[in-house]
Amino acid sequence: MTSKSDSNDLISDLQFIKGIGPVRAKALASEGINTGLDLINYFPRAYIDRNATNSIKSIIIQKLSQNNISIEDNSFDKKNLDFKYYNPKREYSLIATISNKLIKQYSNRKKYLKLTITDSFGDKATVMYWNYAEYYNKQFEIGDLINVIGIPDVKNKFDITFSQPEINKIDFDEDEIAENKIIPIYRSSEIFKRAGISNNTIIKIIRNFLDKNVKTPQETLSLEVLKQFNFPSISIAYPAIHIPKNYDEINLAMQRFKFEEIFYFELFLALKQLGNKTLQKGIVIAEKSKLARKVYENLNFDLTKDQKKVINQITKDMSSGQPMNRLLQGDVGSGKTIVAALCMVSVIEKGYQVALMAPTAILAEQHYNSFKNLLKDFNINITLLTGGAKNKAKLSNIDEINIGESQIIIGTHTLFEDYVKFNELGLIVIDEQHRFGVEQKAKTIKAAKKSNKENLTPHVLVMSATPIPRTLALTVYGDLDVSIIRELPAKRLPIRTKIVLDNNIENAYQFIRDEVDSGSQAYIVFPLVEKSDKLVDLKSAIEYFDILKDSEFVNYKCGLLHGQMNASEKEMVMKDFYGKQFDILIATTVIEVGIDVPNATVMLIQDAYKFGLSQLHQLRGRVGRGEKQSYCILATKDNHKFALNKKNKDEDEINASILRLKTMERTSDGFEIAEVDLKLRGPGDILGTKQSGLPDFKFLDIVNDGELIFTAKNLAFNIVEKDPKLLLSENEIYKKNIIKKFNKVENYFNIA
Ligand code: ADP
Ligand code: MG
Repeated sequence: MTSKSDSNDLISDLQFIKGIGPVRAKALASEGINTGLDLINYFPRAYIDRNATNSIKSIIIQKLSQNNISIEDNSFDKKNLDFKYYNPKREYSLIATISNKLIKQYSNRKKYLKLTITDSFGDKATVMYWNYAEYYNKQFEIGDLINVIGIPDVKNKFDITFSQPEINKIDFDEDEIAENKIIPIYRSSEIFKRAGISNNTIIKIIRNFLDKNVKTPQETLSLEVLKQFNFPSISIAYPAIHIPKNYDEINLAMQRFKFEEIFYFELFLALKQLGNKTLQKGIVIAEKSKLARKVYENLNFDLTKDQKKVINQITKDMSSGQPMNRLLQGDVGSGKTIVAALCMVSVIEKGYQVALMAPTAILAEQHYNSFKNLLKDFNINITLLTGGAKNKAKLSNIDEINIGESQIIIGTHTLFEDYVKFNELGLIVIDEQHRFGVEQKAKTIKAAKKSNKENLTPHVLVMSATPIPRTLALTVYGDLDVSIIRELPAKRLPIRTKIVLDNNIENAYQFIRDEVDSGSQAYIVFPLVEKSDKLVDLKSAIEYFDILKDSEFVNYKCGLLHGQMNASEKEMVMKDFYGKQFDILIATTVIEVGIDVPNATVMLIQDAYKFGLSQLHQLRGRVGRGEKQSYCILATKDNHKFALNKKNKDEDEINASILRLKTMERTSDGFEIAEVDLKLRGPGDILGTKQSGLPDFKFLDIVNDGELIFTAKNLAFNIVEKDPKLLLSENEIYKKNIIKKFNKVENYFNIA
């Protein structure tokens, strides 16, 4: 430690900072605030602008005028859905005084709290707490000045109610804060309150800390970057967040912190990806392959532009001398298999084995059959290896693989088993990537390397039919190269999708009978396997199988498929459906990833409002796989009728399930659907944050900060491309900081 104003102040014990002391230090620690740096990184969760805060009248006017925007103006048909049009979470902030308070029993166990609030113009609004009424009753008294943040419901000019809003008592020290019109609101907790830490206390402590000339952290972005994007330097950005003079200042500072966060993460990914590549040697596969050309010429269709583009990207990767690590994204039916097949063939031509892994035995078998068919004129040895295969057959297959007789090996998880010994495995293709973990992939790569005389790293291609929004792909799969097939083969007719109400389900059944009469097959999907006492609202496959096969579809052959059947039972039913033993398959979501039955042209999804968007999209992808026109019918509750048809509708009320159904009706573009899904659910729910490797961003909002993400990604990858070890003096600042931010990054990426 050198002088007192050294940046070590930032990591010294908080309790010695003015205004803190041991009791408060302990309380702050409960929120993870242990050092000065933690303290200034405790950002406000909101701000109140005491001058610009809404009046009750102004909120009423705004809300009532919104209600007059017709659905056409903010319609779902718009290609580029703008989130603000249907953001159900648009909040208003208001300062008012509590003028009346009433707590009342409304059921056996529950009480509600009703507050009447009055703003400085004398207008009144109601605040209702249906939950935690006792708690709020204790917190607030008549006469308290409060800040209310919430989504009000406005019935008419005189009737405005906030239900369960957030409220903060305003206990600001007027003198000290008066000159600052914008007041930060910090997250609070019970522990804070008990230690006497009010919002005002936090404001004072942080302000004191920043004012008393304690050094702010060192700059982490280069001067050029700050200038290029007009970001404030770090010593300006912190005060802008905690002691703001205006909103522009806050916004610029926020942009800076967000950028810093995503930039270092992208830099990490760039080092990982490019570092990995340069450290490992890959098998060189010539870009042009005679055998692949022949297979291509043998096809009875031409490839789409996207398919050709993607094949070029893959063959380029495989000829580079570095191992490929690529994600191929394309909706169901976009033709990923043929892309993989042509690339596989070019690797085989070079004398290497290739492996194709599918998530289920049925899918593996389907791939096996279509590869057999595709390559029947080419004398290529294809081996199927699944857990379901009989032991003996499995063993002989294993020998074929080991001695290198097998050229293409198609299988399931079985391919990862230790007893499978490859022979010069050059390319691993993984279908439906979200079903496999990172470790399984790493293990296979290791096995492949071992099988290779020169210890070369195999090429890896993962294929996913779950379209992932671009911003997510750049953060989660930032260390993979991404190829996208967006365009579907031209011959394919888009699936027609329609919402029906349960009331009219009879029409859907009639439609199914008509389709089956004309030679097609149909799926009827239910949310539950069997009747549930808890979910009485939802229909179940078993129950309805019994009903429908003896009533609506008494003259048709019905099959039943659900997740409680064992694997071989399921397989048998699927095969029978494929072989047209059944006209109608009554099922649960087990069919989501699975069979390819081109003859199935209708899917009726019951209680469709209960399903997630990506699930609906995956389910729908089971039809429309042949050349006939296909249909998807989404059945939903009768009482959704109003919300579905309502023209002059307040966007706050469009609830998520209606939006999901409407989105399905509007588009079949998986990427567009994924964008809506991301906005509705957020990235964590879509990917499961932990397993995806998505960091817990403190500032960045993946849904709305797309622009920043692209910019940061480009900048980071450009830097690493030019200077993979960050040796240039201009990159010194990045080297220093990335080592601080990512544990042991220097070992992994060989930064000297
Ligand atoms: P997915 O991307 O879902 O794996 P598939 O590879 O199974 O899609 O392709 C679906 C169907 O489309 C297959 O029957 C395949 O032969 C066919 N197909 C693929 N590419 C084309 C194309 N360019 N033109 C016509 N049909 C194609
Ligand atoms: Mg596929």
